[in-house]
Amino acid sequence: MRYTSTRSCSFVTSAQAIAQGIADDGGLFVPEHFPQIDDATMDQLISGDYKTRAKIILSYYLTDFTADEIDHCVEAAYTGTFDNEDPAPLVEVKKDMHLLELWHGPTCAFKDMALQLLPHLLTTAAKKVNAGKTSVILVATSGDTGKAALDGFADVPGTKIIVFYPQNGVSAMQKLQMTTQRGNNVAVCGIFGNFDQAQSGVKAIFSDAAMKDYLAGRKMSFSSANSINFGRLVPQIVYYVSAYCDLVKQGKLQRGKSFNVAVPTGNFGNILAAVYAKEMGIPIKKFICASNRNSVLSDFIATGTYDRNREFFLTISPSMDILISSNLERMLHLLAGRDAKVVADLMAQLKKEGKYTIPSAMLKELQTLFVGGFCDDAATQQTIGNLFETDHYLADPHTAVAVNVYERYRRESGDATPCVIASTASPYKFAQAVLPALGVETSGDGFAMLQQLADKSGTKIPAPLAQLRDAAVLHPASIDPADMAKFICETLA
Ligand SMILES: *Cc1c(COP(=O)(O)O)cnc(C)c1O
Repeated sequence: MRYTSTRSCSFVTSAQAIAQGIADDGGLFVPEHFPQIDDATMDQLISGDYKTRAKIILSYYLTDFTADEIDHCVEAAYTGTFDNEDPAPLVEVKKDMHLLELWHGPTCAFKDMALQLLPHLLTTAAKKVNAGKTSVILVATSGDTGKAALDGFADVPGTKIIVFYPQNGVSAMQKLQMTTQRGNNVAVCGIFGNFDQAQSGVKAIFSDAAMKDYLAGRKMSFSSANSINFGRLVPQIVYYVSAYCDLVKQGKLQRGKSFNVAVPTGNFGNILAAVYAKEMGIPIKKFICASNRNSVLSDFIATGTYDRNREFFLTISPSMDILISSNLERMLHLLAGRDAKVVADLMAQLKKEGKYTIPSAMLKELQTLFVGGFCDDAATQQTIGNLFETDHYLADPHTAVAVNVYERYRRESGDATPCVIASTASPYKFAQAVLPALGVETSGDGFAMLQQLADKSGTKIPAPLAQLRDAAVLHPASIDPADMAKFICETLA
């Protein structure tokens, strides 16, 4: 299996794709074809546990890793790190509505599914292609990636990790999770700006020749833990395959019959992994792409025009407050029949004008696969309240956006196909928004709110969040976005 850039045709191995993170031309690495799951392998997947499923899917994509290496990476990632025997349990909330809980990991959000595995993939890959060099992981985060990456990479030999987050754009709990991070190889810094500015800053630094030289002189090279890194995507494909296996195993879906997937979407990485699962033969019919008030994606699906020139809103689902969805580039590459020139042109327009319009053939294909929708904060809170009242399920504000958009789609279309909804964060991470939705007046600090939520819902406070109460803030700094390169140089000096 080889990988190519979305913007040009030049091939690399999976180890190179993961070690490097982003292609030299600024494009994203994509597999040259999609492996097909045959019947015998499907049997193994259905009967196997999560780790078995992960090893099988990884071995399709990481063909330059040995079986032993894949085995080691998967075991290290998913043994003793999640608070549930199955890292990604499927919970039937009501008939034909299944929530795929992806937040049982150490940082209580779905990013752990990939970021507990990525450090192992990356250090294995770096040994093959960058022997002797330190990998410097640069991260821009809308809140959850940062902590999940810090947790995954803290004190991993041969790596350093630097995280930038929007100073005003993350929840109090998310901020505390990051600023209290321990580890000898970690740096965390707020920026006075939004997530898109953090992401653009990181992307620019990646392709900056002077920075590359600076690192090379120190026997270092950049890599990414953002979902632009293919090493983030492949673990995410696993849980969609796993959800299908569980539906079949639990007798909720006949083998070979289709289901829908609904995903609360920001950078388009999570939902893209579901598309990749379909490309491998998993029978997914519709992809329901749910946005909050930053509805750039649902507008794109409706019109074929992607336009980031609009007001940016801070919402109660901050991990989806994004106007430039990086992984959409990989989707465009698929829709364009892998024509890198088409993608390069669209991305150049996005950079220059902040918008582009896809050709009508691509739009038709997009609309065959996708349904888009969005809801605002009030509707999100109403959905949290309703779900709790009628179905006794406690959802976080991101998950609730997807439930809201899914339920509206089902009502309006009459499509009663069983649906798997990605549940992307623990409600405890966003207690401040969840409590009012349950009719509870919030009182006290973030930790008092955790207790209030536990009392109201009869569920348990996740240990990693409770422990933050006694953790010291180690990374108080915030800087101007223009100073990101300087901060990196100072950190690495
Ligand atoms: C990151 C995140 C999302 C958005 O996922 P993308 O892969 O960026 O589309 C949704 N919900 C939560 C809780 C997240 O942390």
